[in-house]
Amino acid sequence: MSVPVVLFTADLRLHDHPPLRAALDGGGPVVPLFVRDRGVADAGFAVPNRLAFLADCLRDLDGGLRERGGRLVVRSGDVVEQVCAVAAEADADEVHMAADVSAYAGRRERRLRHALEAAGRRLRVHETVTSAVAPGALTPASSDHFAVFTPYYRRWSGQPLREVLRVPRSVPVPAGIGSEDLPSRVAPAGLSPGLPEGGETAGRARLADWLRSGVAGYEDRHDDLAGDATSRLSPHLHFGTVSAVELVRRTRRAGGPGAEAFVRQVAWRDFHRQVLAARPDAAVADYRTRHDRWRSARTARADVEAWREGRTGYPVVDAAMRQLRHEGWMHNRARLLTASFLAKTLYVDWRVGARHFLDLLVDGDVANNQLNWQWVAGTGTDSRPNRVLNPVAQGRRYDPDGAYVRRWVPELAGVPGPAVHEPWKLRGADRERAAAYPEPVVGLTEGLARFRQARLPR
Ligand code: FAD
Repeated sequence: MSVPVVLFTADLRLHDHPPLRAALDGGGPVVPLFVRDRGVADAGFAVPNRLAFLADCLRDLDGGLRERGGRLVVRSGDVVEQVCAVAAEADADEVHMAADVSAYAGRRERRLRHALEAAGRRLRVHETVTSAVAPGALTPASSDHFAVFTPYYRRWSGQPLREVLRVPRSVPVPAGIGSEDLPSRVAPAGLSPGLPEGGETAGRARLADWLRSGVAGYEDRHDDLAGDATSRLSPHLHFGTVSAVELVRRTRRAGGPGAEAFVRQVAWRDFHRQVLAARPDAAVADYRTRHDRWRSARTARADVEAWREGRTGYPVVDAAMRQLRHEGWMHNRARLLTASFLAKTLYVDWRVGARHFLDLLVDGDVANNQLNWQWVAGTGTDSRPNRVLNPVAQGRRYDPDGAYVRRWVPELAGVPGPAVHEPWKLRGADRERAAAYPEPVVGLTEGLARFRQARLPR
């Protein structure tokens, strides 16, 4: 008997899962499969924080399947070879999987389709599993994608979303399809100590909690660095332990203050995904070149090291970079100002910063990370490509009392109030308290002059 295979990728959940639903609609057993893809590791994406979160996700997914009479089949190696092998063992006519947007995902889909068809099987790729609105579903009159967010958002808001699918009651899986052990969350070197817990159970709990008591304050508080008043759902959206369709639908249904501002932010995710789907090279190359002659990780080594380690001498930048290392996550405002500091004030190639973020972020995501970096660097979709965020002004505005800085920079923990944002101006006892904190790696005027000279037409 032919048993369909469901290949899980960035959709590690049982709720609202169109590929699983389609496979179960056949009425018989299915093979839920996850491949620990060698290609992902070879491309440098298998970093400790995301591997640990992934291990949680797989354990939770397997647990959910077992409660429904099934189990997760795990294999490792080349994804195409492994899927084909499992499909042969199950004598599958069909393999179901979610559509995704990166160049790697595109290659994977093409290779898989080709190999399966050569064996007389069919690949069925489902849209709106990893996005709320499928990339390519909305296009302006004269292009294959939107390059400006506001008109995209207008169209996105009016787009009907598909119904949320219920979690299946039972997922029968045939015996005799072998599986490797689930990977465990061992503590490899480089793991952030404050990493959140992964998995659909944790994701759904966070979602429920957020809708109950977080989203109402979102519009007013989302930029408050110390308040930490954003959803922290990004790793769950990245690994698909929360469905974007379900998130948007439930937020809209809950309504109330904050709901639309929050949904708008989720639309940024789809916006970047549709840019990357249309321009996969934007993961590595300027979306709109400004003919920069960036300083590289080698030519600006000391500055890059100071930035990575959170000792640039600019407190809010350093707080954010230390939060990243400790939690594998960073607040959006902090991402904006640290990225601006590297790309513009230090004039270092945005790819150097994007790589460091991808090495640590638990939500590290090609579309969101690379295109946000390009947005900040001025090579992306920002209509004001030469704006530079001043880290002192940003600190004073988004961390007005300095509490965020004191939380992450112990050398400044004894300095009260907003004065913490300009330690070079401290006098007397406060100066002594801050004595262990480094001097700025560059003056802001000097950094700005270098950027302007390099970037602006003479
Ligand atoms: P919330 O404010 O609660 O927002 C809800 C969701 O909306 C987020 O989970 C995210 O999926 C989406 N979202 C929010 N802001 C953005 C945005 N600016 N662009 C796209 N989607 C957004 N996000 C990632 O998921 N992965 C990344 O690798 C990533 N790298 C970034 C790098 C830089 C330089 C910048 C400026 C932003 C980056 N972002 C990235 C976007 C954003 O910072 C995070 O999604 C957000 O901080 C996650 O926290 P949250 O879930 O609490 O967000």
